[in-house]
Amino acid sequence: MSHHDPNCLFCKIVAGQIPSRKVYEDDDVFAFHDIHPWAPVHFLMVPKRHIASMAQIGEADQALMGRMMVLAPRLAQQEGCNPYPEGGFRMVCNTGTEGGQEVHHLHWHVMGGPRPWLRG
Ligand code: AMP
Ligand code: ZN
Repeated sequence: MSHHDPNCLFCKIVAGQIPSRKVYEDDDVFAFHDIHPWAPVHFLMVPKRHIASMAQIGEADQALMGRMMVLAPRLAQQEGCNPYPEGGFRMVCNTGTEGGQEVHHLHWHVMGGPRPWLRG
């Protein structure tokens, strides 16, 4: 795949070189369960193309980012988040070290389900 970083954990997951519990896949987006969930539902949505973080996003990425935003509520419901407003979900995109980012391949956390949660 083009724009694949051989040293990137999430590029390896997208390529199937490291196993994951897949939630969704299309030509541009991949979603999989977080290995250390904070909430009853906790999955990650990533662009298949290696983009390090939101700090690298530009005009050309508008459609891709829009697609991910539109996908999130659908996947949240599919994975068992309860309906809005009593249910709902939380989306988090840690960006950079001070933003709490540990894996430097852009990813949205989508978390939901009944509380209490482990974190958040
Ligand atoms: P962040 O701190 O936003 O960079 O979050 C990285 C997330 O990736 C954490 O919530 C980790 O639990 C998760 N994670 C790390 N390795 C894996 C893996 N192999 N499969 C699924 N999730 C992972
Ligand atoms: Zn990557």
